[in-house]
Amino acid sequence: MAQNVAAFMENVIAKNPAEREFHQAVEEVVESIWPVLEKRPEYRKAKILERSVEPERVILFRVPWVDDKGEVQVNKGFRIEMSSAIGPYKGGLRFHPSVNLGILKFLAFEQVWKNSLTTLPMGGGKGGSDFDPKGKSDLEVMRFTQSFMSELFRHIGPNTDVPAGDIGVGGREIGFLFGQYKKLRNEFVGVLTGKGRNWGGSLIRPEATGYGAVYFAANMLETRNETLEGKTALVSGSGNVFQYAAEKLLDLGAKPLTASDSSGYVYDEAGIDREKLAYIMELKNVKRGRIKEYAEKFSSAVYTPADASADHNPLWDHKADCAFPSATQNEINAKDAANLLKNGVYVVSEGANMPTVPEGVNQFVDAKILYGPGKAANAGGVAVSGLEMSQNSMRYNWTREEVDAKLLRIMKDIHDASAAAADEYGTPGNYVNGANIAGFVKVADTMLDQGVV
Ligand code: NDP
Repeated sequence: MAQNVAAFMENVIAKNPAEREFHQAVEEVVESIWPVLEKRPEYRKAKILERSVEPERVILFRVPWVDDKGEVQVNKGFRIEMSSAIGPYKGGLRFHPSVNLGILKFLAFEQVWKNSLTTLPMGGGKGGSDFDPKGKSDLEVMRFTQSFMSELFRHIGPNTDVPAGDIGVGGREIGFLFGQYKKLRNEFVGVLTGKGRNWGGSLIRPEATGYGAVYFAANMLETRNETLEGKTALVSGSGNVFQYAAEKLLDLGAKPLTASDSSGYVYDEAGIDREKLAYIMELKNVKRGRIKEYAEKFSSAVYTPADASADHNPLWDHKADCAFPSATQNEINAKDAANLLKNGVYVVSEGANMPTVPEGVNQFVDAKILYGPGKAANAGGVAVSGLEMSQNSMRYNWTREEVDAKLLRIMKDIHDASAAAADEYGTPGNYVNGANIAGFVKVADTMLDQGVV
């Protein structure tokens, strides 16, 4: 098997050079599903895997805009339409200076299997720009997003491709994107998710990824007859996923201890309570300030600036029961994973996409801790996006309680399907294998049904 995986990866790397994150995401999935390919030769004959690593379509475009000083700026725009096997392309837009083709292809690839796991009819896609929203005025963000949509609008639609938010794309950006789409198309349709409440957004969509990651942790703990009550948690990030993971942790009686942004992190020994979380939400969503300010406001917190030359991130080096990485990819390296285990962390539920490097994942799996990979643990966000699409099609809104109940159910189904697939393939408790296999089989069977397209 190892030889087959290596040969397959050699080909992927040769055809997609310099796309490190894409190679990493593909290799993890291929390692998990090779036993399935051995059991189901029809998948190999139909070249399901070879087709799955090739996006159905990649759109690259220029995004010119004018800043507040009147200077012309140019950014790159991308949309990766990875798979439409089980539904319209679906996945977020990321605005961050680190965005490149390889990162978006990794995210789009992950999205295909994740969306399949949600049980909802959604294909996979991802997009974005190397635009950096930090330090930009609202008007600059508006001019940029309008220019971005002035090209993207011709490629998307409610039955074709339905983008949402991701890093750097929240309610403000979705509003500007939707406004421009509506103006250009002259139609009011559910072409984006994460919309405002007054114009087609679903209740619980902003909360869904963070809540879902905590529900997934609770589901994993339930297998050991435990709950989150009284547990301590290291949580990274301070954006959308962080904020609602922290809120749900508080709801369930746990204590978040940390928060971060790309400049550094705060450790609050007393715990981030509701009042402090409200402060972070105001700081990040309204004032658009830095997490350092938290430690200036609350004396129980210590701020540590990020050090790019360090071989580990000290955020992951505190005693705790759980970890919820909720910032970005590869934020837990091998040393961080070892530190987490050394400090007693035995529940890791990934709010972010691929936040743990492969050596770290192996350590978690070998240690047999409760490790929920992003593909499963953070699928709540796209699941509620799927529910937003359903509500838009019906022109109807479910209540907060209805959507939350559906989210709870979907996260439990994802957990159970992943656990069952892990058992079936002889790796009980390995949610990495389980999530990859359960997500893959549904898409693969559909591709067989639909012929070579
Ligand atoms: P936000 O932009 O709201 O927040 C991102 C947070 O992570 C910010 O605190 C940001 O700090 C920090 N961050 C981003 N990039 C880096 C970096 N390179 N190094 C250190 N810190 C960084 O994004 P979200 O909360 O929406 O997304 C967080 C993660 O969750 C991402 O991996 C995303 O793909 C994933 N995810 C999000 C979903 C959603 O529904 N929003 C759904 C599923 C997964 P700073 O502001 O300083 O950059």
